[in-house]
Amino acid sequence: MARIISFSNQKGGVGKTTTCVNLAASLALRGKRILVVDFDAQCNASSALGEFDKQPENSVYDVLCSDLTAKEVIRKSEIATLDFIPSSCDLAGAELELSQIVIGRERVLQEKLAKTEGDYDYVFIDCPPSLGLLTVNALTASDGVIIPIQSEYYALEGLSQMMNTIKLVKKFLNKDLEVDGVVLTMFDSRSKLSKGVLEEILKVFGDKVFDTKIPRNIRLAEAPSYGKPVLLYDKKCSGAIAYEALAGEFTAKIK
Ligand code: ATP
Ligand code: MG
Repeated sequence: MARIISFSNQKGGVGKTTTCVNLAASLALRGKRILVVDFDAQCNASSALGEFDKQPENSVYDVLCSDLTAKEVIRKSEIATLDFIPSSCDLAGAELELSQIVIGRERVLQEKLAKTEGDYDYVFIDCPPSLGLLTVNALTASDGVIIPIQSEYYALEGLSQMMNTIKLVKKFLNKDLEVDGVVLTMFDSRSKLSKGVLEEILKVFGDKVFDTKIPRNIRLAEAPSYGKPVLLYDKKCSGAIAYEALAGEFTAKIK
């Protein structure tokens, strides 16, 4: 059975998608079988994996809101063992459609993913920057959550809401949900601010914080415009090296 992991933080632009896609690619290049589910109407994970159409014929929206199965929507990426389910701008309306389901609206994604699990080592869900019903569906479907945190002044803002949502999902929907890790992104080891954020995060999350920090690296921001994970774009840049190191730490820590 795959371990299903949500990449979540309701704060926008903190590196959720970059971490989800590049960690997935690094693990896939080590031979792990990975499925990335783009669960954000912005479709950033889809474009980073080569699908630039923001309203493709079949997407995660159809999986949630029609009879289509997840398997029918799975695409191949450039990396042999890395597949993905693209998103669509239509997903923005899914929250409202799901909210009209009387029973089980938090479990739609969980149910849809159940039949794909045997085919993968990990399923990574790239969550939107909000704590609405889509994120609750992702957390309910997941075994673990990885929280990317940008090394900036407002990094901790909103984190208590995020932790509260995880607590509520654990209590009412998915008692086995665990925080698998916290990744510091856009980290500058020379800056006092980054070090300060690291200290604060360590106080809250202790050994859940990955030792590997992701530096700010322009290559990481460029790669998606070519529809590629950074390892296929510039495998020697500091961003690629960092995600490689994160993949090593991930495989040692998370089964
Ligand atoms: P959203 O909340 O909108 O989904 P996100 O949390 O998924 O955002 P990303 O899209 O991964 O965040 O990153 C936000 C922006 O910062 C993107 O333009 C991305 O290319 C860039 N970025 C992410 N990580 C880094 C990094 N380590 N160095 C430089 N740029 C980065
Ligand atoms: Mg994103």
